[in-house]
Amino acid sequence: MKKAYKKGFNLIETYPVKFPETVILVKYDGPVDNFSFSFPDKKVEHIIVNLCPTEPWALPNRVILRNATHDFLDKLEAVRTEYFPDSHCHVVVDHLESNLVNELTQFKTQKDWLSIHTMEAVYPYDAPVLIVKNILGLDIAFGQNTIEDGILILDPQNVTGIFEYYIKETEFNTRLIPISGTGLKDNKILKVKPGTPIKSMLELYVRTDIKYRVFLDGLLNGTEVKDLTQKIDWSTKNIIVIEERDYKTPFPYLNVNELLFTTSLMGELRRCVYCNFCDDICPVNLEPALYWHCYDRGEKHKARTYALEKCIECGLCSFSCPSKLELLQVIRECKSLK
Ligand code: SF4
Ligand code: SF4
Repeated sequence: MKKAYKKGFNLIETYPVKFPETVILVKYDGPVDNFSFSFPDKKVEHIIVNLCPTEPWALPNRVILRNATHDFLDKLEAVRTEYFPDSHCHVVVDHLESNLVNELTQFKTQKDWLSIHTMEAVYPYDAPVLIVKNILGLDIAFGQNTIEDGILILDPQNVTGIFEYYIKETEFNTRLIPISGTGLKDNKILKVKPGTPIKSMLELYVRTDIKYRVFLDGLLNGTEVKDLTQKIDWSTKNIIVIEERDYKTPFPYLNVNELLFTTSLMGELRRCVYCNFCDDICPVNLEPALYWHCYDRGEKHKARTYALEKCIECGLCSFSCPSKLELLQVIRECKSLK
């Protein structure tokens, strides 16, 4: 099995997550949020559409494209022509998806406004800092609004949304949200009206024989949902429900049998064992253990002298740490110091 341990990690290959073909509509009669897209006031020179998710719990491409890649690209072309006519579009696709690459390349032959880029689906290569660097060769800062540099990173679902709602002026009120994890009876792809509480989305699918925890937008750097009445919005990407466990598994990435998310959330902390796993895996060449040692010695400000601002908060260091040190949490805490 080929994996990337250096400067990233192939989560999809290690923990493949399967979703069924069918999409289920979630019924909800309460107040919902209408679709809206904040069109940037700055000139857009580049549009990046990422069709190469690097997280196994992300929405699969087939659900977005629905075997109609040309139709999706026609929509992208219409959106570009109508709103961003001076821009160049970059569609990024997994190099292993040869059929999709072929379809895109065929479409591209008549379109000089479009480029197709292939990428390895290694986490977190699709993070804004890395994708902009890899596709355009530009350095942006973590958390920076890419529009300041004339770059619009467009969620594929928003391509459809802008086309349907603003150009065709038809109803567009649902978002596709994949739900997965060991706390569910089955993984599902749900079609949900933003504004729907998470509880209403999950109630039919969570296991009732266990305690579980719910996370929004990724296990490595997403957020835990403490209150299930929280509503999803137009930026929600995915929901993961994991069984609550009272033990941790060292070296989780060596265990390929199940999706074990055991780092930085549950259980005990141990000592740093100077293994350098966190240094090796960091995609932006930082030395996360340094931040831990500064923090542990009570020298949080000192952590900032080691290029802390370059951290893209991917959470891979916490994930790989065999001592389960809360590295991402420590990094965020040190970053937030005034
Ligand atoms: S969270 Fe930051 S320090 Fe840790 S691996 Fe990711 S980029 Fe590197
Ligand atoms: S991975 Fe954990 S134990 Fe290993 S060097 Fe980094 S902080 Fe220390």
